[in-house]
Amino acid sequence: ALKGNTGWRPLWRNPEPKSDYDYVVVGGGGHGLATAYYLAKTFRQSRIAVLEKGWLGSGNIGRNTTIIRSNYLLPGNEPFYEFSMKLWEGLEQELNFNAMVSQRGVINLLHSDSQRDSFRRRANAVILAGADARLLSRKDLRAMVPFLNFDNARFPIRGGLLQPRGGTARHDGVAWGYARGADLHGVDLIQNCELTGFRIVDGKIRGVETSRGYIGAGKVGVAVAGSSGRVMAMAGMRLPIESHVLQAYVSEGLKPILPGVITFGAGHFYISQSDKGGLVFGGDIDGYNSYAQRGNLPVVEHAAECGMALMPMIGRARLLRMWGGLMDMSMDGSPIIDRTDIDGLFFNGGWCIGGFKATPASGYAFAHLLATGSPHETARAYRLDRFSRGYVIDETGTGAQPN
Ligand code: FAD
Repeated sequence: ALKGNTGWRPLWRNPEPKSDYDYVVVGGGGHGLATAYYLAKTFRQSRIAVLEKGWLGSGNIGRNTTIIRSNYLLPGNEPFYEFSMKLWEGLEQELNFNAMVSQRGVINLLHSDSQRDSFRRRANAVILAGADARLLSRKDLRAMVPFLNFDNARFPIRGGLLQPRGGTARHDGVAWGYARGADLHGVDLIQNCELTGFRIVDGKIRGVETSRGYIGAGKVGVAVAGSSGRVMAMAGMRLPIESHVLQAYVSEGLKPILPGVITFGAGHFYISQSDKGGLVFGGDIDGYNSYAQRGNLPVVEHAAECGMALMPMIGRARLLRMWGGLMDMSMDGSPIIDRTDIDGLFFNGGWCIGGFKATPASGYAFAHLLATGSPHETARAYRLDRFSRGYVIDETGTGAQPN
């Protein structure tokens, strides 16, 4: 049936690396590609390369459960994630690419009076920051998602927090859209090119060693997500980051049943339905440190148990696929977008299990930092030295949902 489907033009060029660039962005995931795009398009910089050790989008950008939202509590986070949401809302027009951004709503379930209080506080903070939030009663929820097990013995469902503008986006469509956009603005996207070292002279970056030879660079921005610890160690840095696997699952295609995203924080479970009908769900990270892009069965069992506790009818659906991605878990659950002590070397990472929703703002803010030398106004709190100064941004510690 695909016989007539010939003559497709690749979405981006496949250039040979040049001997040097003004900017080298390491990592062809969502954040690296978005950074290169905004550097070229918005900040009008040129001579930019993205180096990717595999193929574009082979990392977490193509492995996540696609949830986007901006209902954060803390002042360090909320303006940044709302900036990202605004960029999501215009992304398809910006890139002229169908990223299937779908604001179908995100519901965080609550199970106790104290959790209702904390969700109400978060909703007020979100509204004060100019974003949207609505507290849902149990009755509201029964009308919207009647198939949930409301009387679940351990965590009876008492209500929820809805962000109507939250939802999902087609994850690899986002990578492809940014890649094509960057390429159209002259960025060299270099695949199968692994960074193997930094050339640093007198405290200043001069270039990078790669599996395809040495490449000179004026500035280097590292955005390698789960590989952050390994890559920055090559520059002699030890980060407040651990790598863990996060797994996700998709069922066979079913008729539409889920209106939006539902998160069950008490049980470490979140679920949405793809446009193809698959139930896309995930749970918690695997407990041990790892650089393997595959996980272990105890977490699969835990996620399945949580799914059954929340919506028992999921037990009738057949699991189609499961996979794992490498999470760069920071010590306070919030990211880092900052310069380093090495002149010209910049770092973007620590996205934990929630960096997909940040892709547009992260790319924009990192490009801002690389091009202007100063942090973007929404990303000022994401300093690397906040851990030693004690200014952590502990969003998870406030009881907010992590994903
Ligand atoms: P990546 O796509 O991993 O990009 C990093 C790239 O760097 C990779 O392509 C890698 O190959 C490359 N690289 C590594 N080392 C080198 C090197 N030495 N040289 C060159 N290149 C190198 N977030 C949400 O907001 N919502 C969700 O619903 C959500 N669900 C998730 C579910 C799962 C199962 C997973 C795994 C993640 C989820 N996330 C979610 C998190 C989100 O996907 C990540 O935080 C985000 O994608 C990380 O940024 P990135 O896209 O740039 O990473």
